[in-house]
Amino acid sequence: MTAPSQLNVDVVIMGGGVAGLWSLAKLRKLGFSAVLLEANALGAGQTLYAQGIIHGGMKYALTGKLSDSSKAVARMPGLWRDCLQGKGEFDLSAVKILSPYQYLWSTQSLSSKMAGFFASKVMSSRTTEVSGAQRPQVFQNADFHGQVYRLQESILDTASLVHALAEPRMDAIFKFDWKAQPRIDVRDKVRIHFSADQQNTHTIEAKALVLTAGKGNADILSLLGRKTPQMQLRPLRQVVLRGNLPDMIYAHCLGASVNPRITITGHRDANGDIVWYLGGQLAEDGVRRSVAEQLEKAKTEISELLPWLDLNGVQWATLDIDRAEAKQPGGKRPESAYVDYEDKVVTGWPTKMVLAPKLADDVVELLNKHQVLPSGDSLMPNWLHPDYAMLPWQQESVWSS
Ligand SMILES: Cc1cc2nc3c(=O)[nH]c(=O)nc-3n(C[C@H](O)[C@H](O)[C@H](O)COP(=O)(O)OP(=O)(O)OC[C@H]3O[C@@H](n4cnc5c(N)ncnc54)[C@H](O)[C@@H]3O)c2cc1C
Repeated sequence: MTAPSQLNVDVVIMGGGVAGLWSLAKLRKLGFSAVLLEANALGAGQTLYAQGIIHGGMKYALTGKLSDSSKAVARMPGLWRDCLQGKGEFDLSAVKILSPYQYLWSTQSLSSKMAGFFASKVMSSRTTEVSGAQRPQVFQNADFHGQVYRLQESILDTASLVHALAEPRMDAIFKFDWKAQPRIDVRDKVRIHFSADQQNTHTIEAKALVLTAGKGNADILSLLGRKTPQMQLRPLRQVVLRGNLPDMIYAHCLGASVNPRITITGHRDANGDIVWYLGGQLAEDGVRRSVAEQLEKAKTEISELLPWLDLNGVQWATLDIDRAEAKQPGGKRPESAYVDYEDKVVTGWPTKMVLAPKLADDVVELLNKHQVLPSGDSLMPNWLHPDYAMLPWQQESVWSS
């Protein structure tokens, strides 16, 4: 056993999903000495299960009015675009863009309410109806009689996003064994005494603790003996399929409600074969179905919505994942990113990947407000670093479920 080692910093972040990694980047850019502790692997929570859509508020504005949430989300694509082009606040030019557009399709004519909405000034600048050869290949079939709209929403490969955010700052990202019962005291300072593995124990002292551990925030708050802020989980049963798929597809299918009936994004498995990842209402309702029922429902939906597809030889699997969010009355989806400060501890849930930059700005604002100010970079110790998580559909075990 090596001797415990100690580090003094301004801020410790717990959790290396998109929220923690973006916050680390932001804090270090502003001159804070900040480190991040990750209990599993980077991206292992919701981030690598995300469909990767840089929402522009379109989906939320389907109600016909621009709410606060859609306004906050609407500012994000520009900020992300700059970073993805390497000219924003962080260089994310290494992130793989899976598609520059997300599409919206309806199986038949849009209702007059919906058609009016699409024609409205708000939406006409962001959506374009596409026909014929402009449509994605899958909608070019003669049997398709619906409408297709192109949205200004790009889709990212989330694994490359995690990599692009973490790699330049790996010197400050450390492995943390949650099961080895860390001690976290919050008094005049925050003190964390933890193991990285069975050989190495460390102590970190900081002026503030930032919790971006997704679902894990509740465990850390409970260890600290805190009852607030409260978290809600919204479980999803997503579906993946692969084999004999004709093309990549990035599209929401409009149903009767504001929530898409199904949202499809295209990815690749570990062998490079096309994977379709299905979310939307299918996944939200899917938690009330057994795995077998959910797979049956997904097959029925795809056969009904894209009847010309030959699904012979296609392999299907479900992926269960909880969305972790700040608790809302009636369990509703929060309006925007959420952050809270209580005695040296900031707790945050971004609500959406696309809102991670907003969460990081809100974290900085709260720290400044409570006199946690940057004191310059610290020399980082040579402690163990965590691995990167694998995309779920690149793990063969997922396909045998
Ligand atoms: C199926 C699905 C699809 C989605 N699609 C989209 C989309 O298309 N676009 C979009 O904008 N948003 C999307 N989202 C939302 C988005 O994924 C989340 O809002 C975002 O990834 C949350 O990031 P996070 O960093 O807060 O949490 P997480 O990604 O959950 O990261 C938490 C991290 O903390 C670590 N951790 C846990 N416990 C501890 C602990 N005790 N100590 C230290 N570390 C710990 C975990 O291992 C993990 O790495 C989707 C979500 C889901 C579930």
